[in-house]
Amino acid sequence: MVIELHDVCPYYQKELLSILDMLYCCEVNKFSLLLIPNFKGTNRLDKYLDFVEFINRLDQEIIMHGCYHIGKKDIKYLLLTYGEGEFIGLDRFETFRRLDNGKEILNKVQIDVKYFVPPAWISNKFLEEELQRLNFSGVGYRWYLKDFNRFKIYSPVLTFSNRSVLSFLSKVTSSIFLKLFDIFSVIRLAIHMKDARDDEKITLWKKIIKMSNHRRMISYGELFSKG
Ligand SMILES: [Zn+2]
Repeated sequence: MVIELHDVCPYYQKELLSILDMLYCCEVNKFSLLLIPNFKGTNRLDKYLDFVEFINRLDQEIIMHGCYHIGKKDIKYLLLTYGEGEFIGLDRFETFRRLDNGKEILNKVQIDVKYFVPPAWISNKFLEEELQRLNFSGVGYRWYLKDFNRFKIYSPVLTFSNRSVLSFLSKVTSSIFLKLFDIFSVIRLAIHMKDARDDEKITLWKKIIKMSNHRRMISYGELFSKG
């Protein structure tokens, strides 16, 4: 099982602390940080060096998660996201520019990344090629992880929506999903920074982590190297 913390950036520092607290309470000692290099264009990591130092001290796997984490509000994707699908409808040039820009910011603060997860898990037809051009090894989507050189690993994501109606539905169905996901050898729990603002969600995450304690924690890097 992979535990992913989504939307890690200085803006959500407080939320990050309470989620880390929750993980330590559940005795989770391995998780992946999905880091946003420049959240909304105002949270450039190289301007928040204390935050970067804190992240490095956690000594966990870091995955790049978008560049700005904002995108067009597209009615077609309304059920999946609202304004977070950064890569929806971008052309090749802009896709490359954002990936390159994000990676450059991370390089500046000496963070090396090999994997990428697009915001809201929404890709576009250029994304994978441009990721490879920038030497990324793989990408994570909602249902599978893809190693660019070798294979796909099917591993569904369990997550809570942050939009009110869907949020309610996903709370009700989370334990049902968890049962369904029993057939998958690898599942991922996507804990979003915003979940920290909802006590009910935190309680549910604790329950879900407890229910999954027969699973071994694993990182993207370990999964891909093992196959
Ligand atoms: Zn995100």
